[in-house]
Amino acid sequence: MDPVIVVHGGAWDIPPGLLEPSILGVRRAASEGYRMLETGASALDAVERAVMVMEDDPAFNAGVGSVLNEGGQVEMDAMVMDGSSLKFGSVAAVRRVKNPISLARAIMERTSDLMFVSEGAERVAMELGIPLVDPRTLIVERQLRTWRERSSKQEGTVGAVAIDRDGRIAAATSTGGKPMKKPGRVGDTPLIGCGAYANGIGGASSTGQGGPIMRVMLSRLAVDMLTGLDPIEAARRSLSVMADRTGGWGGIIVLDRRGRIGYAHTSKRMAVAYSMGGEIVAKISSLE
Ligand code: ASP
Repeated sequence: MDPVIVVHGGAWDIPPGLLEPSILGVRRAASEGYRMLETGASALDAVERAVMVMEDDPAFNAGVGSVLNEGGQVEMDAMVMDGSSLKFGSVAAVRRVKNPISLARAIMERTSDLMFVSEGAERVAMELGIPLVDPRTLIVERQLRTWRERSSKQEGTVGAVAIDRDGRIAAATSTGGKPMKKPGRVGDTPLIGCGAYANGIGGASSTGQGGPIMRVMLSRLAVDMLTGLDPIEAARRSLSVMADRTGGWGGIIVLDRRGRIGYAHTSKRMAVAYSMGGEIVAKISSLE
């Protein structure tokens, strides 16, 4: 089958100065992931790559450019899931890992456990040969300013879902979490079925308010809806269930086993990019 990838750069009130960098960033992420899929790479490789591109891009709240916690530190959460085996790996509250998504994948493939947190996760990274970085190298000026202003206005998260030539589906999500969060706070992103989910039917990656996403297990909810709905409807309905039941807002990308994609958000904006007939479409979806 023709491979497909869809990525998001977070559901939030993206300010004017970040609109262009966000479009460029999601385009680059989708392009790199798609190029890999075209040359026969697995969906897992493609989503990891796409998320790494956005973790390395200071325009996004993941990896370099992550928001800072109360104490002025970066603490990141990430998760990757392989729909064909239902295996996943995740990390929470890591401070010294440049690409948390790659550590999540290494945990999935090279340990007998599924999730590690904080210093324990960093120790596992070292054991797996993933170098630790000085956490200050992940801090960017924009986030320092936000921290000095004590602003807790939420920023997005990044994520990707793909299907490869063999019909295998994978999903990945990575985030710096909520600005001004208490040290040790963990959001929805690294929790299975919440920040991401994938199986043989489809895959999803979520962003937005962590608490509400966890309470309805948003990604799993959307994937379950694919048994009766197309991905666009599943994306919309899952967010409306979340709004009705919890009052929470967010965004989601969804892909089904036929390679159809959907996305929706109840935040003001969300940066998305996807492959369509070999071309990459990148845009800021806006409710205005
Ligand atoms: N869901 C993320 C969290 O709560 C943040 C976001 O996507 O905006 O950590």
